[in-house]
Amino acid sequence: MKMNDLQQVKQWLAEPKNIAIVSHRNPDGDAYGSSLALFHLLKNMGHTVHVVSPNDCPDFLKWLPGQDEIVVFEQDQQHAEKLLHKADLIFTLDFNALHRVGDQMEKALNACSGMFLMIDHHEQPDDYAAYTLSDPTYSSTCELLYQFIERIGELERINTDIATCLYTGIVTDTGSFKYAATDAQTHLTAAALMKYDIQHSIIHNKIFDSNSVQRLQLLGKALQNLTELPAYHTAYISLSQNELNNFNYKKGDTEGFVNYALSLANVVFAVIFIEDQKQGIIKMSFRSKGNFSVNEFARKNFNGGGHHNAAGGKSEDSLSATIEKFKELLPLYKNELHAANV
Ligand code: 5GP
Ligand code: MN
Repeated sequence: MKMNDLQQVKQWLAEPKNIAIVSHRNPDGDAYGSSLALFHLLKNMGHTVHVVSPNDCPDFLKWLPGQDEIVVFEQDQQHAEKLLHKADLIFTLDFNALHRVGDQMEKALNACSGMFLMIDHHEQPDDYAAYTLSDPTYSSTCELLYQFIERIGELERINTDIATCLYTGIVTDTGSFKYAATDAQTHLTAAALMKYDIQHSIIHNKIFDSNSVQRLQLLGKALQNLTELPAYHTAYISLSQNELNNFNYKKGDTEGFVNYALSLANVVFAVIFIEDQKQGIIKMSFRSKGNFSVNEFARKNFNGGGHHNAAGGKSEDSLSATIEKFKELLPLYKNELHAANV
């Protein structure tokens, strides 16, 4: 059954339900911000709600209200599967394709009988949900979720915890209101959220000023490895597993590193290659300025995707082979990269 009618969503939510909220693998501020905001809201409406995350989040998100109640699939698979199977409704937030939760959890989700509802802002959403609210013009799932809450007539349930979670997702996905997807509506939503007594300055500190010496030294290593390819307005950074180990790498430590490559004058396309020996992959983060689509680049060449100016991908080749493949692709994009120069 297809159900893109908001009235029907409201009907579903009119009676107490068992609800699971699912975020993507390697959750970021928008994934956990939106999941926890919806968690608090739906609990407030009288539902039984659980957030199930494929894996753990970085430390800089470990203060979000309700974060300690999230069930991590990778750590507690049986419990997580039980919650998913019991759910009447399964909200999937901040991702556009079920494989983004990882193989094991995707299998568990495919075996569920609950109704899926997607709220997301990535391009090219898959068609797996009974209700899909997908709009890539939104800065963040949190901004879109605020609209969803308004549309189902539940704005008055927003409290400080919910506003804190939503604000966090907007701040992280907009790079503190500077990325291109930030518009007047984004600021209006942030302004509305600030009226709930959120501690915006403390939120910023918790997200951006939680460095360790080792993380900053890892950044030093990453910057030493920074390579510019001026002919293609491109720059990249690589970090091998050995280099990560030398600085006692922890989840989240490389967040934002790729932006240093993009900050170079005349660079419109930036990439970071991060070796993950445990998963046997090279994880890539792509960023761009202007009209060069890293979503298309990642989809076509590295089994990934995301947004126009921010996307991810992966490769099963070695670190050096992946970088070689990347460099060999660039001539095909030379015209586009020159045209995108901003
Ligand atoms: P990041 O580089 O920060 O991991 O991801 C940038 C954006 O691309 C995020 O919105 C993220 O959800 C998305 N993304 C990252 N990796 C993948 C991937 O492998 N596939 C798809 N479809 N999107 C991705
Ligand atoms: Mn997002």
